[in-house]
Amino acid sequence: MLIEGLETLGLAQGDSVLVRAAVKAMGPTEGRAATLLIEGLLELLGPEGTALGLAFTPAYPSWARNPDHVWTPATPSATGGLAAAMASWPGAVRSQHPTNGFVAIGRHAQDMLADHDHTKPCFHPMNKLLERNGKMILVGCVESSPGFSTVHLAQEHLGLSTQTIRQGLFGTYFEQDGKVEWFARLDEPGCSMGFSKFYADYVREGLLRTAMIGQAYSIGIDAKAAYALERAKLEKDVTAALCDRPECFGCRGIWNYNKKDWPAYWAKEGVRKVKNRFRALRIG
Ligand SMILES: [Zn+2]
Repeated sequence: MLIEGLETLGLAQGDSVLVRAAVKAMGPTEGRAATLLIEGLLELLGPEGTALGLAFTPAYPSWARNPDHVWTPATPSATGGLAAAMASWPGAVRSQHPTNGFVAIGRHAQDMLADHDHTKPCFHPMNKLLERNGKMILVGCVESSPGFSTVHLAQEHLGLSTQTIRQGLFGTYFEQDGKVEWFARLDEPGCSMGFSKFYADYVREGLLRTAMIGQAYSIGIDAKAAYALERAKLEKDVTAALCDRPECFGCRGIWNYNKKDWPAYWAKEGVRKVKNRFRALRIG
């Protein structure tokens, strides 16, 4: 059943696939949802296939560096049950990127992640997914964590991801050649809640495939086709992937390419901060 669902999403033997999932949405699987999903993927993709996931780890403010926080490839990822299960899978490979690493299992895991280190942008491995004519699926997180990661790649290629007021302000210690160094992140993916705005475009172009994986509503797409569409839309309007929430700091407050939203956001935020200060004084 699970494998049929994955086939309906467009996956086939030998594919390279980026998977994002809210595995709990698959239904009652006695806590084995992530394992069942990975087993199903690997069986369908076969010995020539590769499954990729996001295994992000915390970025800390550079003004509050904690020498106890040193990233290594064994640092647990903070991106949910699927990433954790993939990272502990026998033969799994992880990026060397200290905050926005990927994890991969399968034939091309090593080639796809080998050069993803602290010198590369967060979503750099997506270039390899495009080169391999790969696919992407979302399992159970279509609404809760919407969108495909090719949008982040398009943002990187268009020079948007480095246009943040937080450039270089967040990072983590990491170990390299036996030395501990500070990694200051120069690009950031930002909020992705607005990526659902591309869904109607995918449907209109006939690109989107849907299936149930267990009880989880799921979607799949070819990475190259998705990227082309997303990039074209971002070229017309660089703010096309931002969400609509007025209070979203990640969309309204940080991007140098979206300064039109700064006055309203920061005026409201400034008032809130002053109010909080007075509230704190009254309590104190
Ligand atoms: Zn947002």
